[in-house]
Amino acid sequence: MARYTGAVCRLCRREGQKLFLKGERCYTDKCAIARRAYAPGQHGQSRKKPSEYGIQLREKQKARRYYGVLESQFEKYFEMASKQKGITGENLLRILESRLDNVVYRAGFATSRPEARQLVRHGHFTVNGRKVNIPSFLVKEDDVVTIKEKSRSSSKIKDVLESTEGKISSKWLDVNRDTLEAKVLSLATREDIDLPLEEHLIVELYSK
Ligand code: SF4
Repeated sequence: MARYTGAVCRLCRREGQKLFLKGERCYTDKCAIARRAYAPGQHGQSRKKPSEYGIQLREKQKARRYYGVLESQFEKYFEMASKQKGITGENLLRILESRLDNVVYRAGFATSRPEARQLVRHGHFTVNGRKVNIPSFLVKEDDVVTIKEKSRSSSKIKDVLESTEGKISSKWLDVNRDTLEAKVLSLATREDIDLPLEEHLIVELYSK
């Protein structure tokens, strides 16, 4: 399945929530959710009450869209989560949080997850000193994600760091803005994940 390349604000309007896919714009009154807080399309303002299945499906789609993950990849993560000890929904969110593109965003090295994904793809980061350009790479405890020496002088990286200064923080990451490193202190717990997701609905959907 191809990656979604349409207008990302439509995704937020479809979910009825800010998914923070456009960096700084999401915090301004230009945000499409602030201006048109109803689903896109001809029937966007007259949608009926969703069924139980519809509610579960929307929750899964919302999670996928927050993290920018395709359906097939999401299913793989769910499978991994269900094989791990503990609560499947929480395991799933922890796996999603461990993606390199998410860690880059959480560390304040990108203004949004889509931007983080692009920066990772362009090879601006190392993990434990080795270049990694795979956004879905899963970090582990004690891994260190660093902005590459050569990338630090790029105007893109400088702009990003300027706009995220003092705005983004995560308890499970130790971010050093001088050395431009983020160390994974521990994998994210449910309390660390500030997204308004009801992961049990996703588990119910896949358990049908
Ligand atoms: Fe979503 Fe950001 Fe667009 Fe607002 S500006 S609708 S939060 S992507």
